[in-house]
Amino acid sequence: MYCPYCRYPDSRVVDSRTTDDGVAIRRRRQCPDCGRRFSTTETASLNVVKRSGVVAPFSRDKIINGVRKACQGRPVTDADLAVLAQRVEETVRSTGAAQVEANDIGLAILHPLRELDEVAYLRFASVYQAFDSLDDFEAAIALLRVEHDAGAAAGPASTSPDVVAAADGTSANANTPAAASTTRTKPRASDAS
Ligand SMILES: [Zn+2]
Repeated sequence: MYCPYCRYPDSRVVDSRTTDDGVAIRRRRQCPDCGRRFSTTETASLNVVKRSGVVAPFSRDKIINGVRKACQGRPVTDADLAVLAQRVEETVRSTGAAQVEANDIGLAILHPLRELDEVAYLRFASVYQAFDSLDDFEAAIALLRVEHDAGAAAGPASTSPDVVAAADGTSANANTPAAASTTRTKPRASDAS
């Protein structure tokens, strides 16, 4: 990189060390032209693009602050929030992208938050997904109930509306090939003869 003093287009690494928390490497550099020293910090970059278009570095603290409001009065500790923020970061980093949409961060929060506290999850989801009626709450609660009934180890179950639609009308799946592959049932043969 350029020397910040004289703009000389090269520099020599004098010293490298990992920061105490292990998330960055700090390098001491020296300009071969003017001889002055400066430091650089190297981290695995992960930036968040906000809806406004502004780009900011990913921050676990911002995740925690965003979720903490939804957890007011709930039995959720600071340690729980720290673990949640770590899980969100791991999820987002696992995509391999150096830059993610703020929307994807919100999505990555929903699943671990639901495991942590369902009331906090509903509060957070209502803001993040812009619930604007009781119907939205009822739908979200109904989905939680369905997954409770299906067993505690609930994965993502976004297909249930299609399954319900197809279950009571055999013509409903004509335009949805993806759903049809799992829900298609032949009409009963009783009336066919
Ligand atoms: Zn220089």
